[in-house]
Amino acid sequence: MREVDEVFAQGAHWIQGSWRRARTTAVFEVEDPSTEEVIGEVPAGGPEEVGRAVEAAAAALPGWRATPLEERLELLARLCDVLEDDSEVLSEIITAEVGAPRAIAGPAHVGLAIGIVRSFIDVAAKFPFEEQAGRSLLRHVPVGVVGCITPWNLPLILISQKVPGALAAGCTVVLKPSELTPFSALRLAECSAEAGLPPGVLNVVTGDGPTSGEAVVVHPDVAKVSFTGSTRAGRRVGALAGGLIKRVSLELGGKSANVILPDADLERAIRTGVHQATFNSGQSCIAWSRILVSRDHERDAVEIAAELMASMRVGDPRDPATEIGPLVSSPARDRVRDFIESGIREGAILAAGGPDPVAGLSRGYYVRPTVLAGVSPEMEVARHEIFGPVICVMPYSDEDEAVRIANATDYGLHGAVWSSDEERALRVAHRISSGMLNINGYDFDPYAPFGGVKQSGLGRELGAEGLAAFTETKVVQVCR
Ligand code: NAD
Repeated sequence: MREVDEVFAQGAHWIQGSWRRARTTAVFEVEDPSTEEVIGEVPAGGPEEVGRAVEAAAAALPGWRATPLEERLELLARLCDVLEDDSEVLSEIITAEVGAPRAIAGPAHVGLAIGIVRSFIDVAAKFPFEEQAGRSLLRHVPVGVVGCITPWNLPLILISQKVPGALAAGCTVVLKPSELTPFSALRLAECSAEAGLPPGVLNVVTGDGPTSGEAVVVHPDVAKVSFTGSTRAGRRVGALAGGLIKRVSLELGGKSANVILPDADLERAIRTGVHQATFNSGQSCIAWSRILVSRDHERDAVEIAAELMASMRVGDPRDPATEIGPLVSSPARDRVRDFIESGIREGAILAAGGPDPVAGLSRGYYVRPTVLAGVSPEMEVARHEIFGPVICVMPYSDEDEAVRIANATDYGLHGAVWSSDEERALRVAHRISSGMLNINGYDFDPYAPFGGVKQSGLGRELGAEGLAAFTETKVVQVCR
């Protein structure tokens, strides 16, 4: 059997450093979205399995938090080496469960995830776990057992934004990955054992949100929940955690604006923006899915974007030339097509793509890369996260209107501003309500805090702030 098929055949949770079969027979089938075939199944965990995983994490906590920081970081460095050796298998898994094109599964999904683990090692090595404030000693102690709940779109990257930070801080973890993409998480757990992580430090329970996810959130021995997913589910997780006064971080949806000022290099701004927005077939929380352009440049902008989107190669994610793979599931595909139809119904102009099936692809959840032009802020497609290869072009009359449109959604995660005058771009960026913004390009910095404002979430991941999210501050003052 191929190594990747062995992963798909496990059908178990990962608890206390080994595979644990579920007592229930309920399972989730995992589909390959490019073939619509089932590649494997995982147990539908419930409170009992979550309870066993939390028990394992709680039992491992005293030993792990007492392990010297250097040793914890050495184990994380070893984990990076194991992941690097395993990157071929991991990227095959990600292509099979997400449908991510091979061209990005290796370098981006797996490569970036490893880069993020390394960034946590650097950050933790310099982190002031003990510091003086006034007459007091501050100790940033591990928060305890952390419940990490992650989505399907960038499974390994989003796990790596949480788990290594928690481990570096001295916490132990129960991870509940998306039921659509559990295998990358289970493989990571296996790799962690190979790297020498003690049993119980990282546990993985598979299952859906309402059953296993909520069981993680409400478990009394889970001290903190770190959640990434939709705003809808985040609201529920936040409400449950709020009722228990439980620590919670929420990384939620986005509807980011790519604001192109009139003096910008239009061609470069559009090209970069289209590639950024269609990364992972448009299934990225930070996608710049709205292009804001001055009315004078609207026609040119639409033409460049439409030409680029129409030329994108859609198809088999295992073909190295493929740029856009399938969407993750049939409901995801239908939802994106419905959005395209709603945009047209509300008066947007279809400049490329459309809701019809992709010619020549009878199997797989494909959507045509689509450009909707003449989109106005009140349209559904301008306000909601579409989560597919769909870009809305929105015209503005002046800088104030550009800022107003950029801010006219409930989200505030990412975005971009382009101008030949950097000072001007910075001024506009400061007026946009968003957790992260890029000027004149796209770059991802794993050392900088990651997160959003408004309905895009609460708290930050990555960098020192992301590490601090897994600690509590304890103040000790000797009174003389
Ligand atoms: P989702 O909210 O459906 O699921 C995310 C995770 O939460 C899954 O593991 C799911 O099983 C679990 N879950 C669902 N309901 C739950 C509940 N009631 N209690 C506990 N857990 C629950 O999201 P998705 O469809 O998997 O992912 C796509 C969404 O994630 C998009 O909205 C996207 O923008 C967002 N996202 C945000 C970020 C970020 O960092 N801000 C990153 C990636 C994706």
